[in-house]
Amino acid sequence: MRNSNSKSEGAPNPYEMAVAQFNSVSDRLGLDEGMRRLLSMPKREITANFPVRMDDGSTQVFTGYRVQHNLARGPAKGGIRYHPSVTLDEVRALAMLMTWKTAVVNIPYGGAKGGVIVDPKKLSDRELENLTRRYATEISILIGLEGDIPAPDMGTDDRVMAWIMDTISMHRGYSVPGVVTGKPISVGGTAGRMEATGRGLLYIVQEATAYRGLSGDGLTVAIQGFGNVGAVAARLLHGAGYRVVAVTDASGGVYNRGGVDPDALLHHKRPTGQLLGAPFGDRLSNEELLTLPVDILIPAAVGGQITARNAAKMQAKIIVEGANGPTTPEADAILEGNGILVVPDIVANAGGVIVSYFEWVQDLQSFFWEEDEVNKRLHRVIIRAFREVVDMAKRDRRSLRQCALLLGVGRVVEAMKIRGIYP
Ligand code: NAD
Repeated sequence: MRNSNSKSEGAPNPYEMAVAQFNSVSDRLGLDEGMRRLLSMPKREITANFPVRMDDGSTQVFTGYRVQHNLARGPAKGGIRYHPSVTLDEVRALAMLMTWKTAVVNIPYGGAKGGVIVDPKKLSDRELENLTRRYATEISILIGLEGDIPAPDMGTDDRVMAWIMDTISMHRGYSVPGVVTGKPISVGGTAGRMEATGRGLLYIVQEATAYRGLSGDGLTVAIQGFGNVGAVAARLLHGAGYRVVAVTDASGGVYNRGGVDPDALLHHKRPTGQLLGAPFGDRLSNEELLTLPVDILIPAAVGGQITARNAAKMQAKIIVEGANGPTTPEADAILEGNGILVVPDIVANAGGVIVSYFEWVQDLQSFFWEEDEVNKRLHRVIIRAFREVVDMAKRDRRSLRQCALLLGVGRVVEAMKIRGIYP
């Protein structure tokens, strides 16, 4: 499949990476040619070029996508990304990952993803709202309470979700809170959703360190990305006794062997939106962060960061993938060879989609839970998935990624076979 706006030369193509990961388990699962072809392609995709009225009176044309990869196990589910380097291939890859993710944690969804090529930081609030409402309208032929439920991803937040919910509700003539998740609580959001991905990472770090035989206060952590996922993970890990020694965002970051206080970093970041210049340690680049001698490394920014170029230099004992697709297949092989435990994205960062599922269930029932109930259920679902993957890894002597994919893809294939081919 060709893409019209591929990434810069040399950057790993995320869709090719996702298909390579899928191919690495399809032999083992004994999939026939038809099943392989079907699952290596999206089911449906929309490309929309749409106008947005800007504050200066001009009109700008933006490009957005919504891709549904598979619906065999339930409605499509997946976030919406606003980022200048969004490509159709990236959205396809992320939609495929969502299919495996919802299956491996065993919640009744398929996989989808959306994205708009835009730097949201360069838009005013009004322009961002105009863009969001028009994009929501363009993809409204796909999204809906029972068919495809978006959520936040990079560059989008609860406010963007509220605008999407309101736009779809205006079209229908009544409120449809369950059409998106990650909404503010006042319009049908759930307690615990803002922290869910970071909290899931904390639970996974606790399990993974125990599995690796690492224990005690002060295990060191480096985190790439200081947004919804990275900053929340940093705060929760710090609170749980881990020593967060390094944090970066797109502007770079800081390293302090004694540990940094994530709340102080957040305080520094608030006025400028950047970590750059935070006075709590030595200045650090994104590339340097990845190869620090720490117990736990959490990539929580963009994809394709751990590659054949830097994997051999990695010194972390455990890598917990907060970002989607941070590790290329070549890098995976190097990390495995070097004995580094990698907890793959489709398990490690599933906290967000798990609590999104809880939000959708609460919206459907118009009955809302307390935060401790949400967190307890999140713990149960994500740890069950982690342990199923680890049990398989011990039994079959395979990597956690291979086992997570075998479980996830296997469940999707089973659902497709049971449903059969229509007509
Ligand atoms: P966000 O927009 O809130 O934050 C992204 C962070 O990454 C920012 O700190 C930004 O400065 C940094 N960043 C951007 N480009 C970078 C670069 N080139 N190098 C280093 N840092 C860079 O996004 P988020 O919601 O925290 O998502 C981060 C990752 O986690 C993405 O891969 C996303 O797909 C994944 N994820 C998010 C959720 C969720 O619930 N938000 C759930 C699962 C997975």
